[in-house]
Amino acid sequence: MLVYADNNATTRTAPEVFEAMAPYFCDLFYNPSSMYPPAAQAASAVRDARAGIAAFFNVGNPAEFLFTSCASESNNHVIFGAAAANPTRKHIITTTVEHPAVLEVCREMERRGYRVTYLPVDRQGRLNRVDYVRALEPGNTLLVTIMHANNETGVVFPIAELARIAKETDPEILFHTDATQSVSKIAMSLSKNGPRDPKAVDFRNVDFLSCSGHKFHAPKGVGLLFLRKGTAIRPFLIGGHQEGGRRAGTENVPYIVGMARALERAAQTHDADVLRLAGMQKYFESELLRRIPDVEINGGEATRMPNTTNVSCHFVEGESILYELAEYEICASSGSACTSGSLEPSHVLRAMKVPFTAIHGSTRFSFSRYTTEAEIERILEVFPGIIQRLRNASPFSRENKHS
Ligand code: PLP
Repeated sequence: MLVYADNNATTRTAPEVFEAMAPYFCDLFYNPSSMYPPAAQAASAVRDARAGIAAFFNVGNPAEFLFTSCASESNNHVIFGAAAANPTRKHIITTTVEHPAVLEVCREMERRGYRVTYLPVDRQGRLNRVDYVRALEPGNTLLVTIMHANNETGVVFPIAELARIAKETDPEILFHTDATQSVSKIAMSLSKNGPRDPKAVDFRNVDFLSCSGHKFHAPKGVGLLFLRKGTAIRPFLIGGHQEGGRRAGTENVPYIVGMARALERAAQTHDADVLRLAGMQKYFESELLRRIPDVEINGGEATRMPNTTNVSCHFVEGESILYELAEYEICASSGSACTSGSLEPSHVLRAMKVPFTAIHGSTRFSFSRYTTEAEIERILEVFPGIIQRLRNASPFSRENKHS
């Protein structure tokens, strides 16, 4: 039985998404900008997709959403585009635990003369509000870019509150959130009037939001960028005047249709899916703690995504855990997919000051609405044995140290 527990890296395309996309490859393949009548069908598919996505985020004006190729592009667009449009401000605030699609762009901004504040996190991966408030510089801070949910630990940052504080400090400070891991799993409202759904988080003070279709059962290669109307930002991809001149490039019609269908589908069973995932997470983590000695759940005391468990097993090495898991056809990850393959410990866990003896033995299991209880049981069946065997062989293991 193959167990796929790496949904924060990517998700399977949902069958209904694939079905919705199918007509736009061989039949309705037209360029939506073309003038002849068949192309109008492609254009209207993009229009409908944008309207559906706007409704998903409780936004009245669909033009506030741009289609991109991925979350990395959306993040690059925001940081470079906001800087280009607001040249007098030279300070950016982010965190030490962002995805490289934000961190590396911030490093590039430093090379271009910007000052970047990288906010630290505590042992549970949480931000400190006092640090945040101190970092905001009225009149000088250009942009705050803070992720909603962390891809490695699932820790959720209080974006609604952080965005409100930024606007209260200086309404001209722009606020961006990389919501790649939370969109579809945490209900959110970007309306200026606040949420209609009382369970949705209120992102009325968020100016820019990024996400990526392949994290919520749409295919890889399509992303989304929310740009609040009236917010100063320059385009990132320059060329043709698609997307109202804000993002050049012929629209990827099938993938855009697929992304809209994926969000529509997510909304239909959102509450039940989240409840089920949260129940499975609680069981999974309590069993891991019960069955394996010297183990901790990273971010275990913080508010977290219901689909992510990042577990550190002291005195073992993460890459070996992954190889062993693969022997049992269990797909998981150590740190983020982008850094696995290198022996560098995760920058997120380092920022959380996870001790040396545990940081290398970290495994991320991330689930989706397709995850079954049988898959969870399978992991619980084999994982403790793997850890025990690796510890027996490890020079770092407590037993071996004592012998
Ligand atoms: N931001 C976060 C939080 C992510 O988890 C990822 C991917 O893992 C990205 C950005 C980049 O997404 P993409 O590969 O679609 O550009």
